[in-house]
Order: sequence, then structure tokens, then C-alpha cells
Amino acid sequence: MPRNNRPRGSRRPDDDDEPMDIARLRDGIAKTVIKNGIEFTVQTTSGRKAEDGKRWTCPNCGIVFGPGISHVVVWETDLGPQNRRHFHNHCWKTFQGRLH
Ligand SMILES: [Zn+2]
Repeated sequence: MPRNNRPRGSRRPDDDDEPMDIARLRDGIAKTVIKNGIEFTVQTTSGRKAEDGKRWTCPNCGIVFGPGISHVVVWETDLGPQNRRHFHNHCWKTFQGRLH
């Protein structure tokens, strides 16, 4: 009698991603935007809930900004929110490249 009676199937070891701080990301309104055939998730944020001292570099203009600046949080939908970047609102509108 075969001992190996595990059900067949291709379980992917990476299925169980560690939980992200989705609750905080849901502070704003998320929507999906396609740029150059790439699907992005765009999350509006006031930045007010961010920790003091937090700083982000806008990938479009390279300027560092902190909480209190109205901006959007963006990630490639396929890559997930752990790859999110923070854009000035106007920079996101003109951004056409990739996030890395
Ligand atoms: Zn910018």
C-alpha cells in the first residue's frame, strides 16, 4: 500500500504572502489605472495617518516629501502593495514609466 497519498496538485509555496498593512492603505479610495499597458492600483491618501518623520521620494520628480502633502500611493497591481511608491498628485498624472 503506497504511503504517499497526498492529493496531487501544484501548490505554490509563495501563495501565503505575509499580510500587508492593507487596513491603513484603505484609508483612501483605490482605483485601477492602466498606463502603457501596465495595470496600477492607485490609492489616494491625505498622508495624515503616516508616522511622523516618514519621508518618501517621488519617483517622477525625485523630490522628497513627508506627511501632510496630499499625494497618491501607487503600485503595479501584479506586484502588490509591498512595491508601492508615493507620487505627488500632479506627478502621477504625468508619469508614464515603470515603477522600478
Ligand atoms: Zn513629484
